Amino acid sequence: MFNRPSWSFMTLNLLVRKLIYPFILPNALVCLGLLYLFSRPELPEAMRPFLPVFPWVVLGGALFLGWRFNRSRLLWFAILLVGCNLLLHHLPEGDSGRFLLGAAATLLPVNFLLVSLFRERGMINPRSMLYGSALLAQVLTVAWLHHNDLPRALGFLDSPLLPSATLNALPQLSHLSFLGAIALLAWRYFRSPAAFEGSLLWAMPAVFLALQATVPEAATRSLSVAGLLLVLGVVESSHAMAYRDELTGLHGRRALNELLDRQGSRYALAMLDIDHFKKFNDTHGHDVGDQVLKMVAGKLAAVTGGGRTFRYGGEEFTVVFARKNTDEVIDHLEQLRESVAEARFYPRGNDRPKKRPKTIDKKQMAPAPLSVTISIGVSDRKTGGVKPEQILKSADEALYRAKKAGRNQVCT
Ligand code: GH3
Ligand code: MG
Ligand code: MG
Repeated sequence: MFNRPSWSFMTLNLLVRKLIYPFILPNALVCLGLLYLFSRPELPEAMRPFLPVFPWVVLGGALFLGWRFNRSRLLWFAILLVGCNLLLHHLPEGDSGRFLLGAAATLLPVNFLLVSLFRERGMINPRSMLYGSALLAQVLTVAWLHHNDLPRALGFLDSPLLPSATLNALPQLSHLSFLGAIALLAWRYFRSPAAFEGSLLWAMPAVFLALQATVPEAATRSLSVAGLLLVLGVVESSHAMAYRDELTGLHGRRALNELLDRQGSRYALAMLDIDHFKKFNDTHGHDVGDQVLKMVAGKLAAVTGGGRTFRYGGEEFTVVFARKNTDEVIDHLEQLRESVAEARFYPRGNDRPKKRPKTIDKKQMAPAPLSVTISIGVSDRKTGGVKPEQILKSADEALYRAKKAGRNQVCT
């Protein structure tokens, strides 16, 4: 038998896979790289002329990508960043400037939050158009207040929320706005992490720093950091889309093929297939079948022994164990088979109420739990063949033997 990994190892593993690798590392690298570039007093001579245009290249690039990839959110964020940049470069002196800066700093986080709630459906859709009108209405209102009732509008923005004096030029209301937006974005990100939402979370402090900047050039640099983070987020999420299976969240066939091409001279590969799934679909419906596929995928993703799980297609999955032979992975696969067989699944019907009802009709409740089993065939590079196709075929033949022998078992 094998040893179960310790809790601390599993926590560290989870931390690296879910937080450090996808969220912290790429965004921190962009921030650090740009901070280094911007803070160096002695830039190479050849780069100097490039620096002033760099922010415009980034912001223009974000606009271009948003347009070409039909990413309405990136396009709106880029418009907000460009608008903010223009404002910070043309801020009037005195109360006028203070009001416009305060209004922008209060409204920007709210707008970032609104845009982040969009579903990606391209630029020309009713929600995107509605938002465009709302943004225009905000700009017109701020301009009207600035023109007609500046002292009162400024007084409102400056009214202290806390007894202490304001920390700096920005009104306390804008701090509250930023804090609230960042908290809500963080809550959404950690509930369902996605690359673009992660980058947005990093972009918010960069925008805040831009509004605090004392010279317009520093503001532009911070805004271009935000722009580049968002561009990176779009590129990462497009890349993830190409490799991930949408239903289960597992990596798909393309990622499997790349991984197999990278394997060394020793690895084991298992093919897994849900038993009698056609009958399951016929009995319970395709939607319930999809829910079970997700549940099974979740169990398979938790494979021990360093295995990596892929959705091969349909109700078939593949697990690859680098630097292992068949006999070293059998126990891990048996454990996987058991974990699926023991799982009980309660389908979520369309009529399931969103809120828990106050009184529960016991007769209607508690539908019988459903369960499925899986069969597994395993092979390795030592016995299956040299090429990945040969090993896949050999594991598939073992899977066939497992089906023939009565299903819900592992065969070599
Ligand atoms: P066996 O035990 O021999 O594997 O029997 P089986 O019925 O599972 O085998 P078969 O490969 O013939 O059937 C696979 C079924 O899986 C057919 C299809 O209805 C179902 N299936 C494939 N992909 C999906 C999917 O994405 N969602 C759902 N709900 N069903 C799927
Ligand atoms: Mg099948
Ligand atoms: Mg099957």
